[in-house]
Amino acid sequence: MALIVQKYGGTSVGTIERIQAVADRVIETKKQGNQVVVVLSAMSGETDRLLSLAKALSHTPTPRELDVLLSTGEQVTIALLSMALEEKGYPAVSYTGGQVHIRTDNEHNKARIVDIEAARVHKKLNEGKIVVVAGFQGIDEDGNITTLGRGGSDTTAVAMAAALEADECRIYTDVDGVYTADPRIVQNAQRLPLITYEEMLEMASLGSKVLQIRSVEFARKYNVNLRVLSSFEDGPGTLITDEDENMEAALISGIAHNRDEAKLTIVGVPDMPGIASKILGPIADANIEVDMIVQNVGLDNSTDFTFTVNRIDYDKAFEILQKTAKSIDAKDVSGDNTIVKISAVGVGMRSHAGIANTMFKALADEGINIQMISTSEIKVSVVVAEKYLELGVRTLHTAFGLDKGSIVDAND
Ligand code: ADP
Ligand code: ASP
Ligand code: MG
Repeated sequence: MALIVQKYGGTSVGTIERIQAVADRVIETKKQGNQVVVVLSAMSGETDRLLSLAKALSHTPTPRELDVLLSTGEQVTIALLSMALEEKGYPAVSYTGGQVHIRTDNEHNKARIVDIEAARVHKKLNEGKIVVVAGFQGIDEDGNITTLGRGGSDTTAVAMAAALEADECRIYTDVDGVYTADPRIVQNAQRLPLITYEEMLEMASLGSKVLQIRSVEFARKYNVNLRVLSSFEDGPGTLITDEDENMEAALISGIAHNRDEAKLTIVGVPDMPGIASKILGPIADANIEVDMIVQNVGLDNSTDFTFTVNRIDYDKAFEILQKTAKSIDAKDVSGDNTIVKISAVGVGMRSHAGIANTMFKALADEGINIQMISTSEIKVSVVVAEKYLELGVRTLHTAFGLDKGSIVDAND
């Protein structure tokens, strides 16, 4: 008997009809002789709705109370699915994160799972029940409800699978796998039969929100068999796996993009040791994460310093930078919160020169100006104006031979 963890996202449980369809899929898996644990998101739009209620009351809602509020979305869907399963003759039991001891740290709104008590779930499974667990939430040492950050149900599912030593963790969503680019932007994008943990991690951290980054980290760390599939149609989906030799053949496996970007520049900074830390120290103190950094020393020996932050932190970062500029005698501060980051990702890049150049030329041919560049072993990222997002992603998708028809799907 295999133990399967299935996770269904917001769209998949967005209506009563869809919850019925999820129940049917769960029952099908159960009928095949498996033990089934289901992890659910809130109905699509619900977490946003709850967030806007909180924001209507306060610009900076108390993080603890926000978690109490946001965790309710998942409580609704687990109860409904369990009722649907019972109604169809399949015993089920729903649990909130706290009830199955999904223990997290106390970083409200972006808590990390530290432990899951598997015994209770195993007991119910052994009694023949289908166990339905609320995604995205846990409980800290003091019994406070925590949430895991947007998209966190993916992480609940993978962590559950690791804790229960499940045979497979299936992430059911509104696309039938991981694609070479967001299929909402590139119609010619193709489903990848396989992707390595490493590439998926890079894609997720560069903006492909099909899986939450931490779920991939967990899967890699605990060797969880992870698959992304459609909840609406049958198919093989995408297997996230260790690197294998065949996969080296693909130079670039995907193009990721991220709209949540903003950049800030401080110009005419006196060039001397310690300046970078004077600029970024106060930003870090305000808990603002910095992504790309570019520093340039001009002919007059003054430095221009540019960095990117998440768009939600833009106003705060700008204010801090203006204060810093005064204190270090810089000439000016400027910023732009209408930029995006586009990245090409692939483990095959390691052994091939010229990827960056192909990328820059393709963008130049379309008249797209590159504002910033950053590279690592398996990715090249560029920052461009937001208006070029779609064109940029499609151009690179074509330039790297990823359009439909150019990948042989040997695993189907
Ligand atoms: P769920 O609610 O099921 O968790 P999400 O909206 O979080 O679903 O994730 C699925 C979405 O991720 C897709 O609808 C798609 O638009 C987006 N996406 C972004 N990049 C990719 C990609 N490379 N492959 C597949 N989907 C992607
Ligand atoms: N409901 C949460 C969100 O919308 C968690 C999730 O769906 O994974 O982010
Ligand atoms: Mg999601």
